[in-house]
Amino acid sequence: MADTRPPGSSGARPSVDTSLVTEVADGVHVVPDRRINLVPNIGIVVGETGALVVDTGMGPRNAEQVIELARKLAPRRRLYLTITHFHPEHGFGAQRFVDDAVVLYNVDQLDELHRKGGAYIELFRGFGPTVEAELEGLELVDPHITYEKAATIDLGGHRVRLEHVGPAHTAGDQTILVDDTVLFCGDLVEAGFYAIFPYFPPQDVDIDGHRWIDTLQRLENLEPSVVVPGHGEVGHVERIAAAKEYIGWVRDRTIQAMSAHESVEDVLGAVRPEALSRYAGWDNPEWIDYGVRWFYDHAESRAAQRDR
Ligand SMILES: [Zn+2]
Repeated sequence: MADTRPPGSSGARPSVDTSLVTEVADGVHVVPDRRINLVPNIGIVVGETGALVVDTGMGPRNAEQVIELARKLAPRRRLYLTITHFHPEHGFGAQRFVDDAVVLYNVDQLDELHRKGGAYIELFRGFGPTVEAELEGLELVDPHITYEKAATIDLGGHRVRLEHVGPAHTAGDQTILVDDTVLFCGDLVEAGFYAIFPYFPPQDVDIDGHRWIDTLQRLENLEPSVVVPGHGEVGHVERIAAAKEYIGWVRDRTIQAMSAHESVEDVLGAVRPEALSRYAGWDNPEWIDYGVRWFYDHAESRAAQRDR
């Protein structure tokens, strides 16, 4: 799909370690990603009558670990599964849940899964044996329920609001807000990683950097007390602010560099070293170029947006 390998194509095996689960707020448990590429932060929200799993891990074996943990944390509860977005490490374990849980997506997530799921399997299979092993036995499945804009799940003592906020990182981005205090952001927010811009034209062009910044502003305004990023450490609202600052900086710096440079290569040559030093210590700098390329290709749509 893309001739450049996105991050996560090598290194540690992308397996979920459920023994590290921690309770980040009353009834809200997170299995941390350990900063391993292609492992997401996974949430399990446990109420008195129901429990919601947020993201599956990649492939049926990881999903099996997650469902076992959910059963342990929430015995005899009705189980639900939703995903922050369709990307493989977040949703390509849903097959393990369809018989045991109510699976719930927004319509754009399902549409995106149908349009691009197969191509992403092929893309990820090319990332080497550790990734390929986790994709063994993979089947893509549809959810039981879809919703348009927002949905609420009452877990008994905990209320969860799902909201479709894409297109931003993907078309179907969804936030999961628990009791108005804990916010699962998926890959809209990463902690200490360069933002993932899955911009692979012409195959995948659903990302919208301008809307992504606006969405992060809206999420920041919610003032959640706990923020769970897609990847990286759980934190507070400053996680959202940092993600917004970075993407805004890439936008502004790219547009600025375009007044001095014609070609995208020259713009990349100007912006990349600055991004590396300004955000020194962040992981996965490979994604800088994808972000710059997106804003380079969509600088005019920003101008149009401003003029409206
Ligand atoms: Zn993603």
